[in-house]
Amino acid sequence: MDLGLTGKVAVVTGGSKGIGEAITRTLLAEGAHVANVNRSSTEGEALEAEYAAKGQRCKFIQGDLTQMDACELAVKTTLAEFGTIDILINNAGVNDGVSLTDGPKAFLSSLQNNLIHYYAMAHYALEALKKSQGAIINISSKVATTGQGGTSGYAASKGGINGMTREWALDLAADNIRVNTVVPAETWTPLYAELIDQSSDPAAARKQIEDIIPLGNRFTSSQEIADMVVFLASQRSLHTTGQIHYVDGGYTHLDRKYTSRSNNVDLSK
Ligand code: NAP
Repeated sequence: MDLGLTGKVAVVTGGSKGIGEAITRTLLAEGAHVANVNRSSTEGEALEAEYAAKGQRCKFIQGDLTQMDACELAVKTTLAEFGTIDILINNAGVNDGVSLTDGPKAFLSSLQNNLIHYYAMAHYALEALKKSQGAIINISSKVATTGQGGTSGYAASKGGINGMTREWALDLAADNIRVNTVVPAETWTPLYAELIDQSSDPAAARKQIEDIIPLGNRFTSSQEIADMVVFLASQRSLHTTGQIHYVDGGYTHLDRKYTSRSNNVDLSK
């Protein structure tokens, strides 16, 4: 299938690592140009050099997205470099564990880590997206639907992202801009591997999570998230908007009574 992405310009936030890196690489593999906005520099600069050597453009833009000036500058820099924005992928975020007991100041900072820059990037990119009749894809989390405990700021942010997806899809339908969200649940990334490695028995910790993932009892790969994101960004997805897509092996919605591998009770009767 030709996704029609050759020469399209995509802004990816947090495009240097984990799910964002998979999205960046998949867009480049489809012939798109990428502006990767990331706080840390090493991986982003390396990606830019790696693709420049192959004659492809993966412009690294250093910026901390909690700063609104950085969001505005990221959009301006992309436009100065490429002249247009066809696709905005809001991906950067962190489950920062800000709970009810941490107080309003910490809560606000969690919203800055996870929610406000999604709005800011869309706001600053809006005129360019109207011209290109482009697409926005947001990355949310299962936590918006399931809760997790101890992470009010992240849950509120991801719920807000789902809400804004519907809101923007309506707002922007007349401009022919599509807006969709992709929801990961348990997705294997280098950071996730590091976290698991910190437990006393990493293999058991990994298995415990895999046991409750219905489809295949395995983590979703970053590539599987990226594939959905890039499809939604593509010219093969022109009549899909305002949707929340769960790429999670059934984790969020299927009944654990019937799907957990560690559950030996026969519940079929
Ligand atoms: P990751 O491996 O930590 O990568 C996140 C990337 O975003 C990093 O490169 C990070 O840069 C960058 N970033 C974060 N905050 C930033 C900021 N304020 N300004 C600029 N760059 C920033 O995370 P991931 O697991 O791939 O997560 C990507 C998205 O998926 C997030 O929105 C997350 O909530 C969501 N998600 C992931 C999972 C999962 O299982 N992995 C599950 C549900 C939802 P630095 O190197 O500077 O930190």
